Amino acid sequence: MATTHNLGFPRIGAKRELKFALENYWKGQTSRDALKAVGTQLRERHWNDQARLDFVPVGDFAFYDQVLDMSFTLGNLPERVRDFHGDALDNAFRVARGRSAQGTEAAEATQEHDACCGGVAAGEMTKWFDTNYHYIVPEFTSATNFSLDATRLVAQLGEARSCGVHAKPVIIGPVTYLWLGKSKDPNGAWDRLALLPKLLPVYGALLDTFAALGIDWVQIDEPALVTELDANWRNAFVTAYDSLSTRRVKVLLATYFGQLQDNLELACSLPVDGLHIDAINARDELAQAASLLPASAVLSVGAINGRNIWKTDLNATLAWLEPLAQKLGDRLWIAPSCSLLHVPVDLESEHKLDAEIRSWLAFALQKLAEVKLLADALNNGRASVALELVANAKAINSRRTSLRVNNPVVKAAIARIDAALGKRHSPYTARAPKQAALLNLPAFPTTTIGSFPQTAEIRRARSLFKAGALDQVGYDMAMQAEIARSVREQESLGLDVLVHGEAERNDMVEYFGEQLEGYAFSQFGWVQSYGSRCVKPPILFGDISRPNAMTVEWIRYAQTLTKKPMKGMLTGPVTILNWSFVRDDQPRSVSCRQLALAIREEVLDLEKAGVCVIQIDEAALREGLPLRRSQWNEYLQWAVESFRIAANGVRDETQIHTHMCYSEFNDIIASIADMDADVITIETSRSDMELLDAFDNFNYPNEIGPGVYDIHSPNIPSQAHIVQLMKKAAERIPPQRLWVNPDCGLKTRQWAEVIPALTNMVAAARTLRSTPF
Ligand code: GLN
Ligand code: ZN
Repeated sequence: MATTHNLGFPRIGAKRELKFALENYWKGQTSRDALKAVGTQLRERHWNDQARLDFVPVGDFAFYDQVLDMSFTLGNLPERVRDFHGDALDNAFRVARGRSAQGTEAAEATQEHDACCGGVAAGEMTKWFDTNYHYIVPEFTSATNFSLDATRLVAQLGEARSCGVHAKPVIIGPVTYLWLGKSKDPNGAWDRLALLPKLLPVYGALLDTFAALGIDWVQIDEPALVTELDANWRNAFVTAYDSLSTRRVKVLLATYFGQLQDNLELACSLPVDGLHIDAINARDELAQAASLLPASAVLSVGAINGRNIWKTDLNATLAWLEPLAQKLGDRLWIAPSCSLLHVPVDLESEHKLDAEIRSWLAFALQKLAEVKLLADALNNGRASVALELVANAKAINSRRTSLRVNNPVVKAAIARIDAALGKRHSPYTARAPKQAALLNLPAFPTTTIGSFPQTAEIRRARSLFKAGALDQVGYDMAMQAEIARSVREQESLGLDVLVHGEAERNDMVEYFGEQLEGYAFSQFGWVQSYGSRCVKPPILFGDISRPNAMTVEWIRYAQTLTKKPMKGMLTGPVTILNWSFVRDDQPRSVSCRQLALAIREEVLDLEKAGVCVIQIDEAALREGLPLRRSQWNEYLQWAVESFRIAANGVRDETQIHTHMCYSEFNDIIASIADMDADVITIETSRSDMELLDAFDNFNYPNEIGPGVYDIHSPNIPSQAHIVQLMKKAAERIPPQRLWVNPDCGLKTRQWAEVIPALTNMVAAARTLRSTPF
């Protein structure tokens, strides 16, 4: 008999109940008890939703972040919050958010992709493997000690028991926990693996606690096993699991997000009772795992994609699962590939989705039903679920053959792509003088990254429009008024290259998705990004085409208001791809090229409309990098090619900008140069221009705008500070190739902050122009 289980459930709630409860609490509008009650309700509801599985996860719920919760369980609190004597939950919020638990919050936009640029948290936040979820990075020093605080897990196991479910606690494993963290040792470089001997007794005590509560299985997540590990890290796994093997609770070692490759033998040789493999990414490793694992060990197969929203082809999945079931018998477990944290909760809530597209989808609850169906088919024969399998085959077939998915015109255009398409007519050195002659900009030209504050008026107009209370004409007029305001402000600030301010865009990906064929939108398809922040990734379901120009009218309007150059503003193909749910029926590279062709048409239309500076944002290019370095090249090749296809069809005189908000640049700088944008603007202000180290070893050939205003902070940078930052930049980059601009878009700031900051920025640029270099 195959056993069913789940690795983790989305905690935010089908209606984002947790988000709203958190934000109300942080605003001081509700009590801590009320917040905790919402947590209790959500956990209980989610366990009931999963009750048909043989095991349900406990400990996957977190008010802010599961890694932060693990730090508290292990007694690893950053020094700066250790003297706090209030409620542990408030202390967790202090670590996560760097402020007191309650206080006035700035109004939150409905959906913002600013997590790419860091965010407001005091504890450092970084991406959870290659997902769009961000965790709070554990901090270590050589003096770090650990002590067990199992209160949270014990309490939740008690709750689960009263719900009548078969609880399987879920924790982050000791090696991955260290792997995820960062050394904050005052004495500099030091190997955090040295903490393992101090950490293991705490894990041992935690497993003993579980055993004492009558728990039979614990799931220990070690996704670090799908990354490239050196000998020390590999040995750490041996040490850790040898030490835990004497405990009286069975361990399911969970890996996900990729293949184990050279860690497969290691994982199979550890003294654990079962191993979970992500069969979406590593199906070809299952057979080897099945033969390497000891005869008593369980193999948990992640057969349902926990990262995407498509229905599983159940018949095809059964075809490869059945032989495995024959071989493994009771030792086969079935689950989603990873925690369902990365998908929305319930497709049943979607009433506005096109019925045909809806029939192709599965959210968390539907995915768990698929797990159950697979197990039923394996345990009782396919005939026992014949009707369900037929319905599934019908949906799979309808998607495969749909003309909305397959557009022969787009396929033909993709087939015609050749290297010439991504090539500018002339090299930068020949383009630059032509652009200079046309634009006639001063030295150290000033510009901004695109968006201006999303004011209350913008939000009001948007919600009235959505509710049908404002018609298209009224809405367009409201947006034009905002654009006019932005242009006026920029004129009086004295900026050199202006932007329209992106008032009409709620989100930099959704805005384009809504106007492209091949995209669908859910109403409640929210996925947690960090803390209370969620994103609703659009669903890229079919071949992409652009029926109409998407931005031209707005930019044309903005240009009529000024004699200064107006920058056209687009989101690049790689970023649109990386922030969408994408097709699983063709490689990501193909979807990306389709997006590139659509953006290219827009670029050429903007050029035709007389726009001579066009910015194509690739905020998410870096985050698409595969987990293993050995796969970086392949990704960078098609990602850069896609950008080039989108951008490089223009005349020499048209200046292409791109914007990226990363703080790590060194390792991909050659690829970024390869994009051949005339100007790149990047994030640097917070790292005090350290980021520009990359430019010491690599001579970036084109123009650069190192961000000098940290838009994530309410602080107003002084003129002197900006001058000093730019002087640092000028030590590395020829001053005649430098631009002066903020770190990122200004949508999350207030005009009252933006005006003084940009006043100082423009003043700094003027100082620089009269400074001899
Ligand atoms: N043009 C976008 C803006 O200004 C860029 C946002 C981003 O890089 N995340 O908002
Ligand atoms: Zn940015």
